[in-house]
Amino acid sequence: MANLANRVTRPYINITIQCGRVPCRWLRVAPLQARLRLGAALHCALSRYRVPPYRQLTHYDSNHSYISIRNMETFPKINFDDTAIAFERKNNRDLKETAWLFGMMNRPWLVNLGSKMTLLALQLHLPIQGIIKRTIFKQFCGGTTLDECQTAIQQLAQYQTKTVLDYGVEAKENEADFQATVQENIKAIRFAGKNGNVPIVSVKVTGFTRFALLEKVTSRQPLNAAEQTEWEQVTQRLDSICMEAADHHVAIFVDAEESWIQDAIDDLAMLMMERYNKQKPVIYNTFQLYRHDRLAYLKASFAIAQEKNFILGAKMVRGAYMEKERERAQQMGYPSPIQPNKEATDRDYNAAVQFCIDNYERIAACVASHNQYSTQLQADAIVRLGLPTNHPHLTFCQLYGMGDNLTFNLAKAGFYVSKYMPYGAVKDVVPYLIRRAQENSSVNGDVGRELKMVRSELARRK
Ligand SMILES: Cc1cc2nc3c(=O)[nH]c(=O)nc-3n(C[C@H](O)[C@H](O)[C@H](O)COP(=O)(O)OP(=O)(O)OC[C@H]3O[C@@H](n4cnc5c(N)ncnc54)[C@H](O)[C@@H]3O)c2cc1C
Repeated sequence: MANLANRVTRPYINITIQCGRVPCRWLRVAPLQARLRLGAALHCALSRYRVPPYRQLTHYDSNHSYISIRNMETFPKINFDDTAIAFERKNNRDLKETAWLFGMMNRPWLVNLGSKMTLLALQLHLPIQGIIKRTIFKQFCGGTTLDECQTAIQQLAQYQTKTVLDYGVEAKENEADFQATVQENIKAIRFAGKNGNVPIVSVKVTGFTRFALLEKVTSRQPLNAAEQTEWEQVTQRLDSICMEAADHHVAIFVDAEESWIQDAIDDLAMLMMERYNKQKPVIYNTFQLYRHDRLAYLKASFAIAQEKNFILGAKMVRGAYMEKERERAQQMGYPSPIQPNKEATDRDYNAAVQFCIDNYERIAACVASHNQYSTQLQADAIVRLGLPTNHPHLTFCQLYGMGDNLTFNLAKAGFYVSKYMPYGAVKDVVPYLIRRAQENSSVNGDVGRELKMVRSELARRK
């Protein structure tokens, strides 16, 4: 009996052979002696045929149990400027519409005016939802319902790209809305569980909590009895979402929001990771590296994860609320939590990516970015370490409607990449759409990058 148990639990090791763009071939062999002998035999065979140097048994990963042999010299460097791959799924008409939209968003005055007018028009119940849906919504959202997202999810899957579903509702303030958001998140998890192309659902805590309560928890002021009960309810709501996710083998991204409510969100995310990340990453917290304290917080979170023996889920973003953060800090007279400049943000972001790579066996990291350097940093490390390109602890994600040159070139090279796809009623996703428009209207922002790519592909197709 003891022997049988030993035999069953003996670790298996996969051997990966990867040459150029040829996909990984996995061989599961056992026992250890045979595996090592096979590795050595493969090495000899490959050397005999004068294939350029292979790294023999480059890596043994105790967690995932594999050894990989990869031809480092011929693994192609990804060309993120390959617009033919980036926009393969778009026809000329789609591309022209995208170029027009990014061209409009390139004008900061138009974005500022348009954002205010849109919010006012929605408040006055003016019929503008149709226009929004046909333009900016179509670019950045998957649909108004889960069913409507099916087409976009399938289309991404055709290009080896997964989907992270995000019910786009945020900043809700009443009990009925909170309940509805939790139910919608659970519905999305069940939908994802049945759909192999949606491994992750993203949640915003402000979708099912009062903002003022999060602010009070973050300020560390004592809660009164009613608030204490309310906070327990919030914890239960997130727990019910996380439990559902664990049951359906779906992961959860907990989005990061404004710094003055973030400690409360972090506390909840850490608690859920401690509960659900013992065997594999189910919950990911989000680290905004535009904050000067977040690299240290990532390291501190990892120390806690090690101490409490769970896998840290770390989705890394630069951060989407920079102007708002700086304005509030200035108005209220406290030091800004934001880095002094873009270089400092980039430095900490890349250091965070490197920290996760260095600890990838116990950190499941997602580079959630449109920044080519940061993306390349992780892709190169995966290749250098001889890990499978689709390693589940070293993944990539871009927003739906942006960064297609990164997403589809990564996917083509076999990396684990997803698109973050918001969905929901048009009026509910307007704050998200306004953030995307503002992000794309900044002088050094994404519009140059996106518009340049789209225009260059249109020119190439002529
Ligand atoms: C999959 C995904 C999920 C996301 N989830 C979240 C989330 O949960 N919470 C959130 O806040 N954001 C989130 N974002 C948005 C993300 O923060 C923005 O996309 C990001 O700000 C753009 O940065 P980038 O990494 O793509 O790179 P870049 O385009 O290279 O960097 C732009 C960013 O750098 C920072 N920056 C710019 N100028 C300065 C300056 N002068 N000083 C300091 N910093 C500066 C800002 O954060 C700016 O947005 C998510 C993005 C993706 C792709």
